[in-house]
Amino acid sequence: MYLAERSWMTEEHEVLRDTVEKFIVAQITPYYEEWEAAGIVPREVWEKLGSCGLLSPDIPERYGGAGGSFTHLAVILNEFARHGYAVFAGSMLGVHSGIANHYILNHGSKEQKQRYLPSMASGETVTAIAMTEPAAGSDLQGVQTVAEREGNGYIINGAKTFISNGQNCDTVIVVAKTDRSVAGSRGISLLMVDANSDGFTRGRNLEKIGLHCADTSELFFDNVRVEGDALLGTEHGGFSVLMNELPRERLTLAIGSLGAIEGALNWTVEYIRERQAFGQALSSFQNTRFKVAEMMTEARALRSFIDDCIASLSVGALDSATASMAKLKSTEAQGEIVDSCLQLFGGYGYMREFPISRAFVDARVQRIYGGTSEIMKEIIARDLLGR
Ligand SMILES: Cc1cc2nc3c(=O)[nH]c(=O)nc-3n(C[C@H](O)[C@H](O)[C@H](O)COP(=O)(O)OP(=O)(O)OC[C@H]3O[C@@H](n4cnc5c(N)ncnc54)[C@H](O)[C@@H]3O)c2cc1C
Repeated sequence: MYLAERSWMTEEHEVLRDTVEKFIVAQITPYYEEWEAAGIVPREVWEKLGSCGLLSPDIPERYGGAGGSFTHLAVILNEFARHGYAVFAGSMLGVHSGIANHYILNHGSKEQKQRYLPSMASGETVTAIAMTEPAAGSDLQGVQTVAEREGNGYIINGAKTFISNGQNCDTVIVVAKTDRSVAGSRGISLLMVDANSDGFTRGRNLEKIGLHCADTSELFFDNVRVEGDALLGTEHGGFSVLMNELPRERLTLAIGSLGAIEGALNWTVEYIRERQAFGQALSSFQNTRFKVAEMMTEARALRSFIDDCIASLSVGALDSATASMAKLKSTEAQGEIVDSCLQLFGGYGYMREFPISRAFVDARVQRIYGGTSEIMKEIIARDLLGR
């Protein structure tokens, strides 16, 4: 078996990895098909994740977290993806534990940290981040949701789409225009909206080609009033919060891709050793051997790059262009490798009962969300060549 050991992993990380694996075996695998059919993971799963300490591994203990570092989060995300549950790595935990709680930790007021972080760690509060709109995805500066000042608070109007955790969430971090008189990024703010607010409604739980049990939703804001203390960071300063947190967001997605690659390779190596054709194991054909050798080499090289990025992020030194390279490289490699692995399964690879088929459909979105591959290339090129 090709295991997910890392040069930086200590005994403590191994214990965490083991905890995640046990959680998956007991709490995920037996129910997963049911959830895929339902299009959502039951709400109580969040509380189970919280009670096992899997929701806020790198949030300080005073806010209910485990007090670890980004490496602990990396172990959790990698492990879910490696076992074929990319939905946890990329969508559910990716957003709640990988991004939202760090927006609050790094940019929230003392009150916001106390109000949200402990209940996010326990799974009592599930969080979504609503940036994308029907007419604004890559072009985030084009958001049309508005939050207009009224007294001490804001009135929010607008519509969001493709929002992960959209059905299960209790709180949404909303990207809205607070100053329409200035162009682009300057008039954008982040607001914490509780899902029981008047005027907030959830739209469809969208049907997708993969990540079937991820609740990816439309959200609507119709004169939703929030108080001034709902502002996360400074007024009109939302864009810089988003930019500050992007390296972390992109690296979490890259870690999920690497985990998915490792899982796919594990299943494939096992399968080609067993499966016979023309009186011999598939693993004896030169094409199969070379293909697996190439894929493993790619995975190992990728692993070194990702480990390097994890080390940089852990000391606050991961720049946006390098994080974009990590996301670009790992998600593109995931697409190619998972496709090649599926090919080695032949017809069985196309059958839902084989996890490689799910890994194939779940992989596709990695090149789209969290910034598309084309946007990653733009960022890298801009860093090298300027605008
Ligand atoms: C399953 C899923 C979950 C998601 N979860 C969330 C979430 O939780 N929160 C959230 O806010 N959003 C979420 N998204 C939205 C996601 O981040 C966007 O779909 C993504 O950023 C792309 O935006 P878009 O769909 O509007 O595509 P568009 O921006 O319309 O892009 C269409 C195509 O044009 C290309 N393109 C656009 N601009 C350029 C350019 N300047 N140069 C070159 N090519 C360009 C793109 O690369 C792409 O190929 C999710 C999406 C999916 C599918």
